Amino acid sequence: MNVLDKTFRPFLSAEVLNERIKELATQINKDYIGKNPIFIGILNGSFMFASDLYKNITVPSTISFIKLVSYKGTTSTGTVITAIGLEEDLSDKDVILIEDIVDTGKTMKEFVATLHKQSPASIQICTLLHKPEALQHPLDLKYVGFEIPNKFVVGYGLDYDGFGRNSQEIFQLDE
Ligand code: 5GP
Ligand code: MG
Repeated sequence: MNVLDKTFRPFLSAEVLNERIKELATQINKDYIGKNPIFIGILNGSFMFASDLYKNITVPSTISFIKLVSYKGTTSTGTVITAIGLEEDLSDKDVILIEDIVDTGKTMKEFVATLHKQSPASIQICTLLHKPEALQHPLDLKYVGFEIPNKFVVGYGLDYDGFGRNSQEIFQLDE
């Protein structure tokens, strides 16, 4: 498949994705028995994954979507991550973040640190993809769909320069 100037080859089929997402949902349903978690989907990349995962969630729960923006902070820590669209009060809530991919881990690490300030009962991360070789900011990833090599992927919500999200399967950069 071509997206803009690059060529991608098939990597994870719709069937493989669907099967694994059902397994993740089953695990979450078990782990959250007796709780009412709030799922937070991180846009744009996770919209397809969040939708398919959530269709298989059976524990009473809510879902909300946010966008993360990073800007240069005034402190020496460099970038600051803020969430756009997070209106819920998360205090004492069991939060499950839904992410498309954890690469270096920087985004998630900083965002989880910000969320902790709201004193949720718990925060867990559910990411469809994870590139262990690229991880620079160690994170506790409770739910991981697939551990993948450190190569660029598109499709199923993930983009290359905004394009390529509209595919039912995931493709890997052909290099
Ligand atoms: P991190 O802070 O973990 O390095 O960045 C994670 C973000 O980078 C993801 O949410 C995603 O938007 C983007 N990203 C990292 N790797 C890939 C990839 O292989 N393909 C696409 N489309 N986005 C990626
Ligand atoms: Mg993302």
